Amino acid sequence: MKNPSIQTNPSCSVGSGFEFRHSFVIRHSNFVILLAPLLLLLTLSVSRAAEPLRALLITGGCCHDYEAQKKILSEGISARANVTWTILHEGDRDGKDHQFSIYEKPNWAKGFDVIVHNECSGKVTNVTWVEHIAKAHFDGVPAVVIHCSIHSYRESKTDEWRKLLGVSSFRHQAKREFEVVNIKPGHPVMKGFPATWHHDPDELYEIVKVWPDCIPLAESLTPKKENEKHPSIWVNTYGKARVFGTTLGHGNETMQRPEYLDLVTRGLLWACDKLDEDGKAKAGYGKQ
Ligand SMILES: [Zn+2]
Repeated sequence: MKNPSIQTNPSCSVGSGFEFRHSFVIRHSNFVILLAPLLLLLTLSVSRAAEPLRALLITGGCCHDYEAQKKILSEGISARANVTWTILHEGDRDGKDHQFSIYEKPNWAKGFDVIVHNECSGKVTNVTWVEHIAKAHFDGVPAVVIHCSIHSYRESKTDEWRKLLGVSSFRHQAKREFEVVNIKPGHPVMKGFPATWHHDPDELYEIVKVWPDCIPLAESLTPKKENEKHPSIWVNTYGKARVFGTTLGHGNETMQRPEYLDLVTRGLLWACDKLDEDGKAKAGYGKQ
């Protein structure tokens, strides 16, 4: 009996039509058997090469080095996760009054998988404007909110921005070093974050309200009054959107820390539901 595994090319064999068809079927079977692992590999490679998350970074306004921070954040996160960027940087000259132009669009977040807010517009109070910004997230677009974004729109009468953030904050302490304590080390976003992080000089944002759907993950301790603690890292849900937030990140030196970029990357992936229970990117969204 012929060994199908070493079947020679039937076009060279001499025999009846039956033998030819028979050998062709065997060869065809071999072909499928040989092809199966290749198809499996192809499938795996396709799943590895998932479409990147399309992130929009909105940055600019008062009081921070957004020119440097937009590079630190986008390059740092893309070095850790499968994320591509559109960056809107404007308003540094307007200071706290800047209204970012993209919010003029009716569906301003359309086409993006996640919005990273690192903006500083503390004096913008227009309720219609602020609620229009928040509505895009309420309808389901994930958000990452960083540092002065938590103080943007804080003087507006509407609560919708604060509900999106997950916290209400209206003032911060003077820039100095303070300690950050990981209070949810089992949460995927906090896997890998130190138990305590002795932070660079930064602004400790005072949180006066944690909204019901917000889960604080870390607290910052007021120096010399350590029982006075304020959530400084958290996750939130707002309407259909998942939100990651941190008040940390006034200075470039903080943002450049691996602990910080690892944290914000996990937060962004969590907001997009692309973070597994071990704090690793789901298949196709990490960097090899
Ligand atoms: Zn600041």
